[in-house]
Amino acid sequence: AAAIDWAKVRADFPLLTRQVHGKPLIYLDSANTGQKPAVVIDAVDDFYRRHNANVSRAVHALGTEATEAYEGARGKLASFLNVRADELVLCSGTTFAINLVAYSWALPRLQPGDAIVLTRMEHHANIVPWQLVAERTGAVLKVAELDERGDLDLDQLYSLLTPEVKLLALTHVSNVLGTVNPVREICRRARKQGIVTLIDGSQAAPHRALDIAAIGCDFYAITGHKMAGPTGTGVLWARREHLQAMPPFLGGGEMIREVRFEGTVFNDAPHKFEAGTPNISGFIGLGAAVDYLSSIGMANIEAREQELLAYATGKLSQIPGLRIFGEAREKAAVISFLVEGAHAHDLATLLDLEGVAVRSGHHCAHPLMHHFGVPATCRASFAFYNTFDEIDAFVTALQKVRTLLL
Ligand code: PMP
Repeated sequence: AAAIDWAKVRADFPLLTRQVHGKPLIYLDSANTGQKPAVVIDAVDDFYRRHNANVSRAVHALGTEATEAYEGARGKLASFLNVRADELVLCSGTTFAINLVAYSWALPRLQPGDAIVLTRMEHHANIVPWQLVAERTGAVLKVAELDERGDLDLDQLYSLLTPEVKLLALTHVSNVLGTVNPVREICRRARKQGIVTLIDGSQAAPHRALDIAAIGCDFYAITGHKMAGPTGTGVLWARREHLQAMPPFLGGGEMIREVRFEGTVFNDAPHKFEAGTPNISGFIGLGAAVDYLSSIGMANIEAREQELLAYATGKLSQIPGLRIFGEAREKAAVISFLVEGAHAHDLATLLDLEGVAVRSGHHCAHPLMHHFGVPATCRASFAFYNTFDEIDAFVTALQKVRTLLL
């Protein structure tokens, strides 16, 4: 990480120079959504100013340019994730990606008596679609639990992998605890038993080099807006054999080869899952985002964020009455915390007045909140564009807020 000029990197993000409530903004909510570098904003802007046309429909010059840029982004994503471009379904985000698997893969396959295994630390996006599938198919959900540190209890997880289990769906990195799950080992185990695996990579893709091929899962979902890209962009990677076997989820234009009233011939995967005009500018922006992240290097980004995490953890631990949720063996740069005697929303509201943006609430993870017996936490999440000075200012603000509330 030493070779990178992080101050220069930070200057790539126009929004980070603004003030809120008369104070310099300290943005510690990147796990919620990431800020965008100028190259991404410019790529979206340039598309609308100079190339705007629909994809795959027109033979005119702009149509060709738009299609090439859009398909080019798919190619960039494929190399970023180390998979084949024709195994990537471009969609609106992780939520869509998981629902696509739920509707097209799981619904037609699951039956009464089948089981789906989830974990206690899942985001609602990786719980609710499976509840809907379970309701409609008669399958049941089983839950892998956590230890006190916020790591998965692997023995208990493996004990759940019985012959009834058809799918194991789990997050790569927890958005609340930062826990990094050993997905490679878990997928190997599941695969041996013929269990299909889906990994929610929303919080992994922004922070570490990903090699989906090496993980050995069946499905991997990511969301673009957390990894420097525009909102409304996401990717589902699926093994080719699944994409071929799965029926389309949504019908419409772009996903067909030939339509007659007697019947329709669908386009090949991944296009058969991409009905309608896609988020063209968004994916061009996401292509620029992965170029940008790659130019810094995901290993450098991970190292930088680990330094910020260690520094912030050390500083926060010195605040009396502050409890950190999640001390996993391997952790991403996310710190969920509470201060004894203060409500999470009050902390976040007062921190905002100091210019510090943290998230408070259940973080779309109700079952995890129940596990810890709290309704909400505050969460500070860091990205490579944050600074050690910002962490100092955050800790000073938190100390001030704490004395106001106690
Ligand atoms: N899973 C995890 C772990 C997340 O953190 C998020 C975003 N908070 C999602 C899924 C959902 O992503 P999106 O809202 O972009 O579909």
